[in-house]
Amino acid sequence: MPGDLRARALHVLQSVFGYPAFRGEQADIIALIAGGGDALVLMPTGGGKSLCYQIPSLLREGCGVVISPLIALMQDQVDALAELGVRAAFLNSTQSFDEMLAVERALRRGELDLLYVAPERLLTPRCLEMLDGVPIALFAIDEAHCVSQWGHDFRPEYIRLSVLHERYPQVPRIALTATADFQTRDEIVHRLQLDGARQFISSFDRPNIRYQIVEKENVRRQLLDFIRNEHRGDAGIVYCLSRKKVEETAAFLNESGIAALAYHAGMDSGTRSAHQARFLREDGIVMVATIAFGMGIDKPDVRFVAHLDLPKSIEGYYQETGRAGRDGLPADAWMAYGLQDVVQQRRMIEESDADITFKRMQSARLDAMLGLCETIGCRRVHLLDYFGQASTACGNCDTCLAPPQSFDATEEVQKLLSTIYRTGQRFGAVHVLEVLRGSDSDKVRQWGHDKLSTYGIGSDKPEPEWRAILRQAIALGLVEIDHDNYGSLRLPEGARAVLRGERRVAMRHYQKPQKQRRPAARASGFAEIELSAPQQALFEKLRWWRVETARSHNVPAYVIFHDATLREIARAMPVTIDELRQVSGVGEKKLETYGEQLIALVSGEA
Ligand code: ADP
Ligand code: ZN
Repeated sequence: MPGDLRARALHVLQSVFGYPAFRGEQADIIALIAGGGDALVLMPTGGGKSLCYQIPSLLREGCGVVISPLIALMQDQVDALAELGVRAAFLNSTQSFDEMLAVERALRRGELDLLYVAPERLLTPRCLEMLDGVPIALFAIDEAHCVSQWGHDFRPEYIRLSVLHERYPQVPRIALTATADFQTRDEIVHRLQLDGARQFISSFDRPNIRYQIVEKENVRRQLLDFIRNEHRGDAGIVYCLSRKKVEETAAFLNESGIAALAYHAGMDSGTRSAHQARFLREDGIVMVATIAFGMGIDKPDVRFVAHLDLPKSIEGYYQETGRAGRDGLPADAWMAYGLQDVVQQRRMIEESDADITFKRMQSARLDAMLGLCETIGCRRVHLLDYFGQASTACGNCDTCLAPPQSFDATEEVQKLLSTIYRTGQRFGAVHVLEVLRGSDSDKVRQWGHDKLSTYGIGSDKPEPEWRAILRQAIALGLVEIDHDNYGSLRLPEGARAVLRGERRVAMRHYQKPQKQRRPAARASGFAEIELSAPQQALFEKLRWWRVETARSHNVPAYVIFHDATLREIARAMPVTIDELRQVSGVGEKKLETYGEQLIALVSGEA
């Protein structure tokens, strides 16, 4: 009976996971899978995808098999489930033969609720034969966008996962991803043979994330101010384009007294996984990384994601920023962006040896990203619109909080375009701006450019302002960069209409980067629970207890309890087991394991 199924699902949510209610479409998804149906679930990071397969696995007969490419995280996932009293194990290449045998034995004896398997392991004859002989509750295909050959997370083994449908047609399947674009969605359905699956597409809004894109000037200084003023002691991720910049930025932060680690594909795998483990386990580490870092990082309390370089696409930006604030508490997505970013990204596309169709697609994606950077409207509206979701101004992004002014930049653009034209479309940004601003440089005089009619016609504006105008002109397609020719600036066809005065151009006013100040208040609903001084002291005490406990269990701190749960305990100050049970995030198993200790801490007896 479906009603009964829903009641049982809710009971599991409350008793095992300790949460009072389902979020969004979780209840519908769980009821469908538990009843034997197939589903494709698109939910943003932090939306609560794991429960969508964990609870049906507990409700159905047999073991739920979860396919995931993230073998480095399986140990933590299994440990977190063990803390909840769920019987889980994993199979991947990090195990010894004996460990593997022990897992296989437990599976055969029906002692497992959930089994995490790496795709390459699942596809071995040994593993498939083993699965033939046991009841399987469901197959969950996590990070399902890995089937997409277009994405940078592509895993060839994922394509072969269609075998699940052929070999076990009666077992329900659920594919999950946080990647939002239509193309990926179609590819998942097609390649995994999920044509009959019901699709659940959540809103991709992450209301607790505040989006900010600032003018890049002295980016390290800006980053340091941002961290010092808004995120002292917080865990965060800083994304850079190159390995070299990753190393340099991590070193710079460490010298400035901020605990930072580096992560990129050029490091040996031992150091890389050691850094990842420290980031996950310790409080307040800043990870400086290339985009090689992050997929599946389910650390809930990443308080900020900073981009020092422009991402290639809105998809990438959304994925990367999405790693902030999975716990639903306020978090920041901060990016510094400037002329050089546009030049660099355009060059990378042009210089790649991809075919013309691919280059066009990359170009279109970059243009969309530039549109987001240059918008004077709400960033969130722009972002969601890109994924086909309508919304209204959010009140929690930089452009909503301090609306940028736009101005008629036609005259400025004409001056700029004329200077490019008069210098022969053979010079790069530095030289063009020198001529425009009337700089007295050797190079300018050498070429006789101090004699041009445009020499000095832009002397009324400082250089950063002209760079912002040039950047926007490039983003708008009014200026092109010739990468075959040392990055010289050229005028495309579209520039003519502006030069002739037939087209007007609106631009975003240059805003000198402000020293970051802690924003006065967060948008309503996302304020952290305010704690009084004694409650705050109790919270700190609980955190210390959590550090000790996590260390003795050898698990990350959030596996014991999330910050939000500890804050709620500090606020509610439960003194009986029944009162403690009411706190969100405290399930039966944790109550049994930690209940007495917590109550002793709250009543000041420990
Ligand atoms: P995703 O895999 O979609 O990124 P997770 O499954 O890791 O997200 O869930 C994100 C966080 O939200 C986790 O800490 C999880 O425990 C919590 N969560 C999920 N569902 C609920 C719920 N119904 N009530 C409270 N917290 C929830
Ligand atoms: Zn907004």
